[in-house]
Amino acid sequence: MIGAFLLRWCAFHYLKTMKEIIKAGDKYNKLTAIRFDHKKENRQYWLFKCDCGNEKVIYVNHIKNGHTKSCGCLQRERHTTHNRCYSSTYRSWASMKDRTTNPKNDRYNSYGGRGITICKRWLKFENFYKDMGKRPKGMTLDRIDNDKGYYKENCRWATRSEQQNNRRTNHLIVYNGKEKTVAQWAKEMNIKFCVLLTRIKRGWSIERALTKATQKKEVKNERERR
Ligand SMILES: [Zn+2]
Repeated sequence: MIGAFLLRWCAFHYLKTMKEIIKAGDKYNKLTAIRFDHKKENRQYWLFKCDCGNEKVIYVNHIKNGHTKSCGCLQRERHTTHNRCYSSTYRSWASMKDRTTNPKNDRYNSYGGRGITICKRWLKFENFYKDMGKRPKGMTLDRIDNDKGYYKENCRWATRSEQQNNRRTNHLIVYNGKEKTVAQWAKEMNIKFCVLLTRIKRGWSIERALTKATQKKEVKNERERR
């Protein structure tokens, strides 16, 4: 019993020591071992020189198992390229994914809740980025057909005004804090669909388009008042 325990204890420490064996000049990824620095809690720390020129004291095991590959410059590099290329594109993607898939999102009702979905391929940011490229300055993600979901053929980067135009004629209008299709608004405001659509296409303000009585109605209202 004690023998087996001792054997395991010895084997464990033997392997641990073996793992930590390193000599000056050994190179792991961007780091070259320079010299032993100190021991702490039975762990060996060595001084390493990174390809970028920085020197840093690092726990030997982390170097040997690949946990640490550079002085930290590698991560910094990755982060900056990531930020530079992706950040605004990434934000567009993340917000699109959230409003289509997360019922707790404020705008879920206008998206996921009414069947506006995201294609499976785009659940991964890398795929979205491959299909759409970097988000151009001043543009946002736009669906060409507003009743269809988010997938390559139905999406483009568009300016706000392009998008608003598209939204209006393509049936999504926000008025009094409610977002409805032209057809729904026409019904609610008791205007003919084609009349409302024409007004919007002519560039009327949403308020005027929705609230100005049509000529016939005016006549009717007049009559009712009499
Ligand atoms: Zn470095």
